[in-house]
Amino acid sequence: MNPKNEEDERYMRRCLQLAANGLCHTAPNPMVGAVLVCDGRIIGEGYHVRCGQAHAEVNAIRSVKDPALLTRATLYVSLEPCAHYGKTPPCADLIVEKGIPRIVVGCQDPFARVAGRGIQKLRDAGREVVTGVLEDECRALIRRFLTFHNCHRPYITLKWAESADGYLDLNRTAGAPVRLSNDLTAMLVHKKRAEHSAILVGTRTALLDNPSLTVRHWYGPSPVRVVIDRRGVLPATLRLFDGQAPTLVVTEEDCQPRPGVEYFRADFRMPLLPQLLDELHRRNLQSLLVEGGGATLRTFIEAGLWDEAFVEESPVRLGDGVPAPTIDRKKICRIEQHFGRLIRHYWEKKNPF
Ligand SMILES: [Zn+2]
Repeated sequence: MNPKNEEDERYMRRCLQLAANGLCHTAPNPMVGAVLVCDGRIIGEGYHVRCGQAHAEVNAIRSVKDPALLTRATLYVSLEPCAHYGKTPPCADLIVEKGIPRIVVGCQDPFARVAGRGIQKLRDAGREVVTGVLEDECRALIRRFLTFHNCHRPYITLKWAESADGYLDLNRTAGAPVRLSNDLTAMLVHKKRAEHSAILVGTRTALLDNPSLTVRHWYGPSPVRVVIDRRGVLPATLRLFDGQAPTLVVTEEDCQPRPGVEYFRADFRMPLLPQLLDELHRRNLQSLLVEGGGATLRTFIEAGLWDEAFVEESPVRLGDGVPAPTIDRKKICRIEQHFGRLIRHYWEKKNPF
């Protein structure tokens, strides 16, 4: 690899690190990081902190102490600069205005209003633009955003904990669920919740486990809670209806209005998932965490509608109970050890990114 490429990759890695700081707050915008380099030194850095606030390029430019250096600097940015007026003016215009001569871009923006236009605008202004540096890593970082725009559905993550002998829970009709996570892995679950725009459970899980599905053991916003309740049987006393986070009920019944609760009327004689995913897309919810139960998880697996899965293996043996879903072991991408627990991470390889 020539020294220039090596240098470009090094600074692009820094962009990726910076971008990841926006994980829980940028949706429906993508995470983006930017670095400004002059004479082999970083003179400015920035990332997109929160949807509605300044873009990464703007934050990086603002952080530079001596703006005169910009006319000799290279701007590294993990995603193509925007070329349209959104909540903020176009970054491509700002880069031109500041006289930055060289721009290195990680990946192109799939968003129809940008798609190549940011890069073209910079080239039309006579700037040197290098594209596709660490492109795979840059695309993987914004996989939720890319899936949403390319597949017109939220990015779907499945998550469950299973016993050493492959059960989700005992067969029960009342009482608390068997605890398969420990305190520390429960925190990881709450972190996952904070990283997603929506979270889903089926009717049985809502009734039996009475989960709140909010983020409490991590910091970050709670996702929109989605629950399937075909016959409208869920009582108003459930935590899902406590108003702590917005709740969307998927049903075929006419339901009583409840504060903080919205209803989506679906046709249950037709396949439910396409209708549900269309609705979440319409609501601009970019990612969905499916937390159970077994039947709901299986529906997603059988339809091939998932992108990632996290399965926590508990050392507890139940002997009998509700069988855990299974995913083709060939799809395991890695096995991690967190806080004394094995976590299998599956990856649906036909992903578009
Ligand atoms: Zn921008």
